[in-house]
Amino acid sequence: MSGGTLHVCRARDSLITDPEDGVIVAHELGNSGPGWDVWAHRDHADDVDLIDPDLLRIMTRIWAAKAAAT
Ligand SMILES: [Zn+2]
Repeated sequence: MSGGTLHVCRARDSLITDPEDGVIVAHELGNSGPGWDVWAHRDHADDVDLIDPDLLRIMTRIWAAKAAAT
């Protein structure tokens, strides 16, 4: 293996094996450093959910708590 970085499709959590098939759909900032690019297959770019996964986890917990309280 030399060069060629594999990216993960955000929409499907699958590897983008063909660089020509991947597009950058977002750029996320890291806590330190320059952050990273978010990739998806060209065909899946519209499916990418750009909600922050940490935020989604918190919201899911809140929704679950609300559901349990009713
Ligand atoms: Zn994909």
